[in-house]
Parts: sequence; C-alpha cells; structure tokens
Amino acid sequence: MVALGIESTAHTFGVGIVSDRKPYILADIRYKYTPSKGGILPREVAQYFSTIAGRAVREALGEAGLGIRDLSLIAVALGPGMGPALRIGATVARALSAAYGLPLIPVNHGIAHIEIARFFAGARDPVILYVSGGTTVIATYSYGRYRIFGETLDIALGNLLDTFAREAGLAPPYIVEGEHVVDLCARGGRFLRDFPYTVKGQDVSYSGLLTKALRSLAKGIDIHDVCYTLREIAFSSAIEVTERCLAHTRKNQVVLTGGVAANSILNDKASRMSKLHHAKFKPIPRRYAGDNGVMIAMAGILAFKSGLNGVKPEDAIINQRWRLDRVDVPWFPRIFGE
Ligand code: AMP
Ligand code: MG
Repeated sequence: MVALGIESTAHTFGVGIVSDRKPYILADIRYKYTPSKGGILPREVAQYFSTIAGRAVREALGEAGLGIRDLSLIAVALGPGMGPALRIGATVARALSAAYGLPLIPVNHGIAHIEIARFFAGARDPVILYVSGGTTVIATYSYGRYRIFGETLDIALGNLLDTFAREAGLAPPYIVEGEHVVDLCARGGRFLRDFPYTVKGQDVSYSGLLTKALRSLAKGIDIHDVCYTLREIAFSSAIEVTERCLAHTRKNQVVLTGGVAANSILNDKASRMSKLHHAKFKPIPRRYAGDNGVMIAMAGILAFKSGLNGVKPEDAIINQRWRLDRVDVPWFPRIFGE
C-alpha cells in the first residue's frame, strides 16, 4: 500500500509518498515559505503554495519513481492551521482523489506529528512532548484518543523563541546551521534570577517570560544572559510538565515531536529526565521534527488500515482549530509499518 500525503497547515507545503513496507519513505518534497521580514501572512503563504503545489506533487512522484495510478490513497492535513494555506492542500488533495478515484483520508496535523515520532522511536505508548511554532502540548494515549495532559496557556514554545529572536534583531533567519539563533546567542550566557518560571496546574505560560526578556533588553541587560535564561526557563517548564505526566501515568517511554524537537538542548533535557524515571527516550531525526508530507501519509495509512475508507471530496473540509484530542485513534497501539 502506498499513500501520498499533503501538508499545508503553516509555512511548509510538503508532499510525502510512503509505503507500508520497507523502505517506507519513498519521497519527501518540501517547499517552505520564508518571509523576508516579520511573521508569516496567511494570504502570502497561500499565494506561494498555489504556485508550487503542482510541481511538488510531480517531483514527489518522480522521486518515488511512481505514477499516480500506483497510489492507494491520498492523505491530507485538514487542520489545525491557517485557513488560506490549508485550503490549497485540501484543494489539491480533493482534485487528485476525484480525478483518479483514490480514497481521500483526512489527517489531523498534530496526530501526524505524534505518529511519525512513535514510528521513529519504536515507541508504542509514550508520553509525548509536542512543541512547534504554534503548539506546545504534553499528551498521552488514554481510552481511544491522545489526551492533552498539559499545554501552553498563551503562546507556543517555537513562537516564543521566534518572536523574541525577531524583536531582539537576531532573526530572520531563525535557524542557522540547524541551531536556533536564541541558542547560538545563549552560548556563554548566565542565568538571570528574576525571570518568571510559570507552570500553572499542568500548563505552561510563556507570554510573561517574553515580555520580561524584551524589557530586560530594553534596560540594557546582556543579550547572551537574556537568551540563556529565556531558553532554560522555557525548556525546563515544558520538561517539568512532561515529567509530571510520566510520573502520573507511569508510562515508560518519552518522545519529542514538532519543529522545536530538532533542538539538541531540549533533547538532552528530555533524555536526562527520562533516565531519572527509567523511561526510554530516543530523539526524532532532525529532518522529521518539523512539518512534512511524510507524516501525513503515515497517519493516512494507519487510519485507512484501521477501517476509515475515506471521505467524499466535498466532505474534506478544513478545520483551523481541530484539536488532536478530538480524533479517535483506533489503530493504537499499532505503530506505522506494523
Ligand atoms: P513546525 O511548525 O513544526 O515546522 O516548527 C517550526 C518551529 O520549530 C519554529 O518555531 C522554529 O523556530 C522551530 N525550530 C526549528 N528548528 C529548531 C531548533 N533547532 N531549535 C529550536 N527551535 C527550532
Ligand atoms: Mg507542525
């Protein structure tokens, strides 16, 4: 069985082609929208996606050495994300499904991040720390779904790092040779004692930390110290909630996923915390931490194999606020490829 997965929830238009047998990943094409300055504007992203979507699909088929008729299904991320961007992926997926009579499988973007992390870690029932530009969630499986144990009360971890970097004049680009510019700037920095570390219940909060960091810069406090403190507090509070989830559920595996899961310092913290609790931890390959079409195709195959036959093109409706705890995961605890 071979699936073509389309990702277009945020800045990346990704087309992945995946087989349910080894070598699993047959193609992985990505086009990333990067604005020259400021944040991303949904309309501009959609405009960009519409110009490269056809090429991305053709290139993915070329890389896999397959024709459209070799595919078994089309999987598409229908949310959560930015409406205009989501609509491009949905339109391409509906058109392919209708034209070639292929089952159309809707995929939740967050579920796909979790499934690719479980796949690479070989983790059947992990505690999941999912951290990206728009999401900070600590989740784990319980009674048919991934349940959210904790999350951010305001901005996401990736957004915190990116916004600070932009306002401080460190970015764009945000990532230099695989490292976030906040990490690069934090080298040699010292910990500042009066920054807010906020965990409320099982939730984290980052907006006070961002404000404090920016105000400190304005007061002339050393930027290396500010970056170091911001990074340490942000990562440690997310890891603290992950640790609480592990202790509470007594599970014995931990995975990280989402764009920020590419971060080596965060991985190191997760690894040390997991060891303390005798839990297994294996980092996700850097390339598959961030948004991609491969994870959408994998989640599509899991859903299809567990009996979801697909939806009619007219029912493949985007949902900008589609929470991952709204999705039944009947394939659980099966891992992709099994
Ligand atoms: P995603 O939306 O899942 O592709 O994640 C994008 C987010 O991941 C952005 O906020 C990036 O700044 C962040 N990111 C990517 N690489 C790293 C890294 N090495 N360290 C920290 N954050 C990263
Ligand atoms: Mg993502």
